[in-house]
Amino acid sequence: MATTTTIEDVPSVELMTELLRRAKCSSKPDKRIILVGPPGSGKGTQSPLIKDEYCLCHLATGDMLRAAVAAKTPLGIKAKEAMDKGELVSDDLVVGIIDEAMKKPSCQKGFILDGFPRTVVQAQKLDEMLAKQGAKVDKVLNFAIDDAILEERITGRLIHPSSGRSYHTKFAPPKTPGVDDVSGEPLIQRKDDTSEVLKSRLEAFHIQTEPVIDYYSKNGLVANLHAEKPPKEVTAEVQKALS
Ligand code: ADP
Ligand code: AMP
Repeated sequence: MATTTTIEDVPSVELMTELLRRAKCSSKPDKRIILVGPPGSGKGTQSPLIKDEYCLCHLATGDMLRAAVAAKTPLGIKAKEAMDKGELVSDDLVVGIIDEAMKKPSCQKGFILDGFPRTVVQAQKLDEMLAKQGAKVDKVLNFAIDDAILEERITGRLIHPSSGRSYHTKFAPPKTPGVDDVSGEPLIQRKDDTSEVLKSRLEAFHIQTEPVIDYYSKNGLVANLHAEKPPKEVTAEVQKALS
């Protein structure tokens, strides 16, 4: 049976850390950021840094869908087949989960959308959802990278499923092989992180998601990053684009 934690049970040091974080965050401006890029372009790697600096929530539709698949929820059952094949799941499914997720208290200062919107229809729906709250997208970071670089990144990726943290056997190895640095739990390889499934995922990106970049370019919201550079250089470009 699941246990519920009450505030009395939270250790004082954690409460203090959270209070200090909230005090620091109260002076930050709201930001709504979208990360667009093919699988393996580094969106998930850069997200925690942006999240902490700007006090935003990180909403990765791929992570949410994988959690739903693992829990065999009705949403997960509907999404699994398309995900296994490297195809996009239906717009209605992902728009529904983003609409719900954006209401979380952790999204009060804004959000980083990682892997959403992936079609122009999703982008239009997002604009409609935000317009209802009198809000809009502030920046779209385009993780531009050549397809040829992605196979090695994807086939060497290891993830910690419950946090979404990603590692790489060669480019970002964990301190102990196969183990998450923070929790000590085992890392796994995603089922769709194979050369074969990557082909379909890249096709979906070029056909269905690249038009999203054009959609936001018209409003002058897109910053193009050199996502093939080493992680620290990409972080510097992200910081420049958001400053
Ligand atoms: P995405 O979220 O865009 O699918 P990830 O951030 O998970 O991509 O990165 C894919 C893989 O490439 C991961 O294993 C990650 O450790 C590694 N990686 C991310 N950014 C870089 C980079 N700039 N240079 C080399 N490897 C990287
Ligand atoms: P990702 O973790 O971003 O690589 O996403 C993994 C898989 O989840 C994709 O290949 C799609 O099947 C599905 N997915 C994630 N985000 C979306 C989205 N915005 N629209 C449609 N399908 C998505």
